[in-house]
Amino acid sequence: MGRVLLLNATYEPLQLVSERRAVVLVLAGRAEPVVTPEHPSVCRSATIVVPIPSIVRLHSMVRLPTKMRTPPLTRRSILLRDDYRCAYCEEHADTIDHVVPRSRGGRHEWTNVVASCRRHNMLKSDRLLDELGWRIRIQPRVPEGPWWRWRHVLDPDPLWEPYLPKAS
Ligand SMILES: [Zn+2]
Repeated sequence: MGRVLLLNATYEPLQLVSERRAVVLVLAGRAEPVVTPEHPSVCRSATIVVPIPSIVRLHSMVRLPTKMRTPPLTRRSILLRDDYRCAYCEEHADTIDHVVPRSRGGRHEWTNVVASCRRHNMLKSDRLLDELGWRIRIQPRVPEGPWWRWRHVLDPDPLWEPYLPKAS
């Protein structure tokens, strides 16, 4: 079963839906096809034949819940935000570090976690930056925008590409 990219009325990508769901939205007048492949698959019923689009766009705007706009705080999403670069030396990072260590009251939240190389993670241990005389080269932030949700899409249809957000 193929997948169809569903866009908001604003052309912002919302999610992937099944071909059947996309056709139902179009037939119900709630969405319109934006891009249809040159040789589309078709959806048949007793009375109609509908070419299946690659992208459909809703006619009315839906607001994404905040939960969907902010990535879950996982090791992988932190590494993605920081581009797998250590916050202390810019070398390749594959661990995460709490800037203010949890043992010192630091919280497990976006503004207190950074990607870190193994060496700096070990060296830093449960000390504060001031105690080490270290500087952090990025200001850790809550990732903005919907790009993160689309970094995990496997094998995307090339026709979707102009509509998928890029990391900035
Ligand atoms: Zn490092």
